[in-house]
Amino acid sequence: MSGGVAATRGKQLNLKRYKLTDAPGSAGRAVLDFLLPKRCLCCDTLVSSGDGLCPTCWHSMPFIEKPVCYRLGTPFAYDVGEEAWSPRAIAAPPEFERLRSVALYEGAAQNLVLALKFAGRRELAGPMGRWMTGAGREFLSKDSLIVPVPLHWLRLLSRRFNQSAVLAQVIARECGGVYEPELLKRRKRTRQQVGLSARERQKNVRSAFSVDKNRAELLNGRHIVLIDDVMTTGSTVTACTKTLKAAGAASVDVLTFALADPSHDSGANTAMP
Ligand SMILES: [Zn+2]
Repeated sequence: MSGGVAATRGKQLNLKRYKLTDAPGSAGRAVLDFLLPKRCLCCDTLVSSGDGLCPTCWHSMPFIEKPVCYRLGTPFAYDVGEEAWSPRAIAAPPEFERLRSVALYEGAAQNLVLALKFAGRRELAGPMGRWMTGAGREFLSKDSLIVPVPLHWLRLLSRRFNQSAVLAQVIARECGGVYEPELLKRRKRTRQQVGLSARERQKNVRSAFSVDKNRAELLNGRHIVLIDDVMTTGSTVTACTKTLKAAGAASVDVLTFALADPSHDSGANTAMP
């Protein structure tokens, strides 16, 4: 999608649907809001109210809107029906049922992903998670198990938190689903995916994941929503999906904040875990 089209789509969004307000009940937060001027989530521009984006960042946010491919969530140029599959999905159907993402991995969306993951800006998880809840509303329910893509514990030590887990926590709270951060484990410390080809990525993550034996019965016949911050080639979520289904999950849908545009290599490799 071109920047111009993305900007137009951003303008067309129903702003009320995505109104960003923080979790209620924090008196401290209310005091801070009063004392500190509010700033755009992406840049330093002052904004008038709430946790949101300034007009410039809003318009550079490449939101994905319907119509999309039923399986891969990639945008269609024109409407071809509610459950239409893209040629890519027909040629190689994914392991998971559906993928939905808030935005393409470029512009303001890319900045938010990188800020959450590498700059430790944990406060972004609230608004990003609420956007994701909107993007995944067709499959999120209170019966869903919300499972983040895990980090290896050594990487968790250096990053301090798993960006997918903090997003999953917000999504579970918003949709009433069950947050299950301990279900899926990363047992192998995989190489950084940066610079690897699709085939190398698949090899890199093969057998990297396992299901916690003590929690495996939770999976039986359940609907899983797998959460990650960004989807690039899909090798990570495919490996997780295979592991979850082999352990008894009935179905797996995937929800990410950003989706690397499959039609061009947008430098998404820079953000892979
Ligand atoms: Zn801004």
